[in-house]
Amino acid sequence: GHFKYYEHNMYNMEIEHERYSLKPMNCPETALVFRSKTRSYKDLPLKFSEFGRLHRRELSGVVGGLLRVIEFTQDDGHAFLKSEQLEDEVLGILKWINQFHSLMGFPSKFYLGTKPDKALGDDKIWQMAETSLRNALKKSGVNFEIREKDGVFYGPKIDVDITDIQNRTWTVSTVQADFNIPKQFDLEYIDENGMQQKPVMIHRSIIG
Ligand code: ZN
Repeated sequence: GHFKYYEHNMYNMEIEHERYSLKPMNCPETALVFRSKTRSYKDLPLKFSEFGRLHRRELSGVVGGLLRVIEFTQDDGHAFLKSEQLEDEVLGILKWINQFHSLMGFPSKFYLGTKPDKALGDDKIWQMAETSLRNALKKSGVNFEIREKDGVFYGPKIDVDITDIQNRTWTVSTVQADFNIPKQFDLEYIDENGMQQKPVMIHRSIIG
């Protein structure tokens, strides 16, 4: 569903009457890998990582340094899990992020982005996910602030920001819960009772 919004930020071409684009993100293919087999609750949390090269068509005027580029490799990872596994999984990722930022000596700031006005998914699942992310932040021992309505339309997120020498803010690490891709790509796992259930997806990047 992103293509119609981001088509102009992608490198598109037509070769022998077929449309191709240079890959701008890893999420869709990861969903297809998840869907390639029947998945059981015993497989969850199921995690994939991807160091593929990504491309974004940026205007030449906005490209700069290592922070805004047209081609990059991201330490991208996705996890598929049951909603009750969200807190533990996010806590593990936060510990990792914290370790990386301390190692680099970054004075980093952690933010929890909550439900925006335009959002997909019902209130109950949003509340559950926001609570899981908030609990994980508390347990990780980091100081964090809430950014009201700064979540993505598909789920709440944690952003870890640094400030550069010109006092500009950049998000380096991110953890996002996603209820939309499992729906869009019709992802299912079989639960303890043999019933089909939708997993929650997490997008995460540590070094960015
Ligand atoms: Zn992703």
